[in-house]
Amino acid sequence: MKHCFERASRARQDILRLHEQERELLNVLLACRSAVKGSVYELKTRCGKSNCVCAQGALHGAMVLSWSQAGRTKLMTVVAADLERLVRATGEYRKFRQARAALVKLQKGLLREVDRLEAAIREAAVKTGRD
Ligand SMILES: [Zn+2]
Repeated sequence: MKHCFERASRARQDILRLHEQERELLNVLLACRSAVKGSVYELKTRCGKSNCVCAQGALHGAMVLSWSQAGRTKLMTVVAADLERLVRATGEYRKFRQARAALVKLQKGLLREVDRLEAAIREAAVKTGRD
């Protein structure tokens, strides 16, 4: 019965493949230099002055950073000088979190393959011992 040897070989290949994917994910994480949680967008608002054009419907546009903190949405006005940096940093944060989530999933799969390898090589050892 060579079945367990084939299973061990398949598990080894899967482990190496996942290890390569893990390296790629780690490279994504290591490449992130700054990260800001949240997203930057234009918020249309009224200033509250009754004689302003916004009272007639032409709303003011303001760039804001929005993020959630302890279950609440926080807003911060973004000045023009910070806009580009914050757009980039929020993008990096999203990329970082996606890579982290993928890493968690991948490592579960990696451990599953390691366990399959263990089962297969232990089975192989028993069969080899009997031969
Ligand atoms: Zn106004």
